Amino acid sequence: MDLGIAGRKAIVCAASKGLGKACAMSLGREGVELVINSRTAETLEATAEEIRQDSGAKVTAVASDITTKEGQAAVLKALPNPDILINNAGGPPPGNFRDWEREDWIKALDANMLTLIFLIKATIDGMIERKFGRVVNITSQAVLSPIEVLGLANDARSGLTGFLGGLSRNVAKHNVAINNLLPGPFDTDRFRTNVGLAAKRAGTTYEATLKVREDATSAGRVGYPYEFGEACAFLCGTHAGFIVGQNVLMDGGGFNASF
Ligand code: NAP
Repeated sequence: MDLGIAGRKAIVCAASKGLGKACAMSLGREGVELVINSRTAETLEATAEEIRQDSGAKVTAVASDITTKEGQAAVLKALPNPDILINNAGGPPPGNFRDWEREDWIKALDANMLTLIFLIKATIDGMIERKFGRVVNITSQAVLSPIEVLGLANDARSGLTGFLGGLSRNVAKHNVAINNLLPGPFDTDRFRTNVGLAAKRAGTTYEATLKVREDATSAGRVGYPYEFGEACAFLCGTHAGFIVGQNVLMDGGGFNASF
């Protein structure tokens, strides 16, 4: 299917690895011009080159911390008027809420709620003027089904989701579609680190913990990042303008609900 977005321009945040990278790869294959971001310049440039080799897409790499004002400004300077914004940032660390101080909560809100809102604020009016815009926010299955040790993510992402529920319905008439993609377990560095930590906490092996995670999905496996990237590209496509303010869960059927 031709998604009809060749020649469009996209910002993909936190994209040197994992799900952000997968989204950038898929958009590159659709002929989208990319500005990709993450903190570590070397890894980011390697990913930019991988995407160029893969699809021939024009890719600009901006190494910055997207959760800071300066980091956001650097990305927006490279592409002030994107047609597509993929909002993403590293997730907060797992832990016990008894150990978290105010600073920990504020940091999580900054990274997983306010950063995304400020990037939308900076780009949405241009999208409205041009009568085309697509925003995909990478959130988490935890929005629907909380993961206790990821309390810092549960709260920030739920706040973001509530805010965007309203905003998405306000801008849809301008052909600007804002949606959230909710990953369940996907085979990325972060996922592998979390499985390792969980195994350590439970005093068991990595393999045994991974098997539990796989069995918790109906698909009996974890997700491949490219599957996530392709779904993201579809939500950015010309044909997705009628999908508005949705929380699209990709968890291999792990969340048990008919609706
Ligand atoms: P990942 O494989 O660890 O990749 C994270 C990417 O984000 C890297 O490119 C990293 O590069 C970049 N990054 C991290 N913090 C950043 C910052 N402050 N500014 C700019 N770039 C930053 O993680 P992932 O699995 O793709 O996860 C992506 C998001 O999905 C996270 O928010 C995570 O919580 C969420 N999620 C993932 C899963 C899963 O199973 N994978 C499930 C639910 C939710 P640098 O370190 O060089 O900056």
